[in-house]
Amino acid sequence: MKTGLAVFLTFVCLCSYSIAEEVCPLPASVKIGEHPKADVPFNLEALKSKWRNRITAIKASGILPVIDIESSFNPGKMNARDFARQMDDNGAALVAFSPQIGDGEYQKSKTLWSDASRRAMNIDPCRYIPVTTAGIYPAWTENPDEFLTATIKKAGEDRYPLLGEFEFRHYVSPRQDKRGETWRDVTIPLNSPVGVRLFEYAATSGIPFEIHYEVEDALLPPLEEMLSRYPKAKVIWCHLGQVRYAARAKKYGPDYVRKLIETYPNLYFDLAFGDGNSLYKPSGEYHARVWELSTGTVKKEWAALIADHPWRFLAALDLGGDRMDDLPKDIRVLRKFIGDLPSNVQEIVAYKAAWKLLFNEEI
Ligand SMILES: [Zn+2]
Repeated sequence: MKTGLAVFLTFVCLCSYSIAEEVCPLPASVKIGEHPKADVPFNLEALKSKWRNRITAIKASGILPVIDIESSFNPGKMNARDFARQMDDNGAALVAFSPQIGDGEYQKSKTLWSDASRRAMNIDPCRYIPVTTAGIYPAWTENPDEFLTATIKKAGEDRYPLLGEFEFRHYVSPRQDKRGETWRDVTIPLNSPVGVRLFEYAATSGIPFEIHYEVEDALLPPLEEMLSRYPKAKVIWCHLGQVRYAARAKKYGPDYVRKLIETYPNLYFDLAFGDGNSLYKPSGEYHARVWELSTGTVKKEWAALIADHPWRFLAALDLGGDRMDDLPKDIRVLRKFIGDLPSNVQEIVAYKAAWKLLFNEEI
């Protein structure tokens, strides 16, 4: 029985691999950071036709395609061919990929912008959606105003379809906690002048942006203030249901998120979070609150909320420069989550909602 299942799964996997590869050949084995840049402005119409074919091919192989709306990469470390293989083997249709500027690079020349998305698009235009430079330490957190100015200039000139992720409030990540790194404890008020400028730009340009914003009661009023001041700004609040300190977040839960969604028409959430066993060590709490810990299934209130508003929830993996090999593991958690939703919304959440948000059309 077990052998039969293994043979079947191997067949499904190889099948998806070959069909997806026929549409999108594997790129050369190169580090993205060393590759020449694609021309800009990006020709989104031509890219969309490649992306659409890839989605169709994965779907035809019997696998639910996934668009990952929120991941970042270290251009110097990432091997494009190895990563493409991981994507094909796991039905990851597209990754919206944002380049990171490392600490060393920033300290050397105070770099505020990375063209690595252009390099990535030149080597593998079939698998990536270009995203502006990740709003993380140190370029964004040390110099938010100038970082945003650089981002806005390039987003318009080069025609990026998505901005971010901008860290406005970020605790140390589990990996950084392990390494004893505390510099990522970030606070930039959302309603500060730089936040206002970002919301204003998003509202006038129509380009969506992503925020990392830890869940704390005190942070919710400024968020609602900005959402009501800028109803046309399309905001993706990353990491649905990720609460690292329950005592600081008494108001947040499926009812509160439902109220936000029903009040603010341009608020979206991404689904990048750990599995039910994922422990946030600094607080000692299981921070992915969407899971029922006793059964490992999605809590019914969260599933009901998503079933009622599926276009507002976006699949995401949150890969980063220090965890590029986590794709198979992370997409398993994501597929488990999507699999617990009603079947009529699974495709929407997996890739259709992302397509509609980015390109204002249905796929
Ligand atoms: Zn984040």
